[in-house]
Parts: sequence; structure tokens; C-alpha cells
Amino acid sequence: MEAGLAPRDARVIRGGPSSVLMPGLISAHTHLALGHLSHLAQDRPFLDWILHGIVPALATSAADPSSFERGAEQSLDALIAGGVTAVGENFLRDEGATALRRRGQSGAYFHEIFGSTAPDLDAYWESLQPELDRLPTSRADFQVGYSPHTPWTCPPEVFRRVVTRARREGRRLSYHLAESPAEDAFFRRREGPLRDLLARRDYLDRYPSGISPVALVESLGGLGPDVAVAHAIHLDESDIERLARTRTSVVHCPTSNLRLAEGIAPVLPLLEAGVNVALGVDSAASTGRLDLFDEMRLALLLGRGRERRVGLLTAPTIVAMATIHGARALGLEGQLGTLEPGKRADLLLLEFDPARFSSAPTSADLVIQDGGRDRVSEVWVAGVPVRGGHGR
Ligand SMILES: [Zn+2]
Repeated sequence: MEAGLAPRDARVIRGGPSSVLMPGLISAHTHLALGHLSHLAQDRPFLDWILHGIVPALATSAADPSSFERGAEQSLDALIAGGVTAVGENFLRDEGATALRRRGQSGAYFHEIFGSTAPDLDAYWESLQPELDRLPTSRADFQVGYSPHTPWTCPPEVFRRVVTRARREGRRLSYHLAESPAEDAFFRRREGPLRDLLARRDYLDRYPSGISPVALVESLGGLGPDVAVAHAIHLDESDIERLARTRTSVVHCPTSNLRLAEGIAPVLPLLEAGVNVALGVDSAASTGRLDLFDEMRLALLLGRGRERRVGLLTAPTIVAMATIHGARALGLEGQLGTLEPGKRADLLLLEFDPARFSSAPTSADLVIQDGGRDRVSEVWVAGVPVRGGHGR
């Protein structure tokens, strides 16, 4: 690592005899600005949570916009304490991205776009243009892209325009896909609570039916190596083939998916098909507690339990999902995700129990089994200590 630093900038990192130095963790799908809503998902399934939890909470918070700033700071404090140094932020406001940049952290901001409640989609799209025009351009270590929120909250007519605009400007895309049973039932079979909701709004004719959500977004141009889709739970074999063929990244958010009773993503089949699968903590409003170590352990255990085999689901794969796969999902693999000369010094030092350390087969096994906030000794963002002994 020191080979990549100019001699005058080089620092010696001292760890104990049972410490592990690794790249900073990457949460590739997060909503930082919702950090103040950590009890919102208590006992609510997905559609109830979004309609009767998130929507009113956003309206209340918008009356006091500083609540989003506080939420973003709370989220980032929790993430840094757990060794997360880069984040893919998704929101309709930029408090999370601003907080990330203020702390010198890298990652991405995907500006969320909706439309499902707009009576006139052409007028909605026109009204959006000034705010899209004002978004900053991407930098080498910070991407700014678009998030057509989901295939149902961002109807196909708007979704297609977002994709076209993103490609014209060279911006990346990230959005929620195949997340809830309601979304799956609506698009594949035109039934379930989402059908009832959209029928009440008299907007059913905005959406195709008899198609998987993944096939729909592919038909809108929404898959590709510049795209990261969050969740991807309800997939059939042809959906997995589409994601693999288009080299679309998937961000697995297991705690959020379990808490909202959405299901378990087919992580092992995705990995076997060659899909880049990253990890995300999602928001405090769905997950409750932002901890990528939790997500790593769950990804390994749930993935094995779902398929009843181990296959590629070993500790080194899971650590890669939390680091270099996250960097790839955000288009930042040249800067983040591995300890290599020339990359940003986003680093994490973990201290383990000496007996556990000496008996672990690999350091990745130790990270998965024993890793957690209580093991985080030091965190550096771009070489600057932000937590731990040097930062105190
Ligand atoms: Zn999300």
C-alpha cells in the first residue's frame, strides 16, 4: 500500500498482532437522509410501509428540511462507526450527497425521479428539467446519476426518458427492482394490492402486464454495465440471464428485505451467472440499524439457506461483495474496493480476539464471523483518520 503514496505522505499503520487491515466497506444502496426515521418499518410489510409510513414521514420532514440533514449525519455516523467509507446514496433531495462530500467521502448520488401520482406525465417530466439541469457533474471519485425510483413509482413513459437522458449525459443509473411481492404480482399477473392501488388512481393503463419487472426495464433500456439495481428478489431464470447478459449490477439488502417481509434474493444463482452482486444497508427507515457487517453475515447465511448449498457463498466472496463489487456497482472500481497502489486510501483496521484470530482459516472468515462495530479500531477516508486512535 505504501508504494502508492508519495514518500512524504506515507504513514505507517500500526495494528496489533491480531488485527486485519482491509479496504473500507461500501454500501452501494442507501438513503442517508432518512436516518431520523429508524423506527418507521416496525411490523409493516412493504406497501403499507411505503404508503402509510414513508409518504407521510417525508411530508412531515419536508416541513423541517433540517431533519434530512440530521438524518444524513446520523446515518453517516453509524456507517463510519461500522467501517463503511463509501456510499451509493439514493434520494429526491441532496442532503445525503452534501454530507458525504463535506466529510470527504466518495460514492454516488442518484437523484430519485417518480411520476406515479402525476396526472400528466408530459407536464411532470417538463417540470423536472430545471432540477435535473442543476445536478452537478460526476467526478473521478463521486458519481452523480439518476434513479427512476421503481418501475411502478416511475411509470414506463417517464422511466424511458430518464434512461435516455442518463445515457446522453453519460450518467449512471440505480433504482429499486423486483423488490416486493406486490410489484411482482402486479407486473406478471395484474393482481394484488398494487393493482388495486393503481386502479383506484385510474392509472392502470400506464403499465404493461404479463411481463416480469426485469423484462420491462430491459425493454425501456434500463439495464446495462452502468446500472445498479437494488434488491432483485423476485427473479426467474430468464431475469437472471437478462441481468447477467447486460452486465447489470445487483445490490443485495438482506436486512431491509427481511424486515419488510419481501423475500430472499437469489444471490447464489446471480453470482453463478456472473452478475456483480454488491451489498447495501438500504435506509434506517427500512433496516432500522445501519450495519454492513450484519448484511455480510446475513448474505452468507441466507444465501446458503435459500439454496441449501454453499457453492460460491464463502467468506472471501462476501467480503468482495462488501468492497470491490460495491465499487463496481457505483462505477468507482478504479478508485475504491481493493488495497492497491493508486487507489484512494479508504481503509479499515479491525482488532480481533487473539485466540479467535489464530484459529480462523482466513482473515475473511474472521471478518464475517466476528466482525462488527466493536471490532472497528480505525477508519481512514482518503488517508485521513476519521475514527479510532488517530482520529480522537
Ligand atoms: Zn432503497
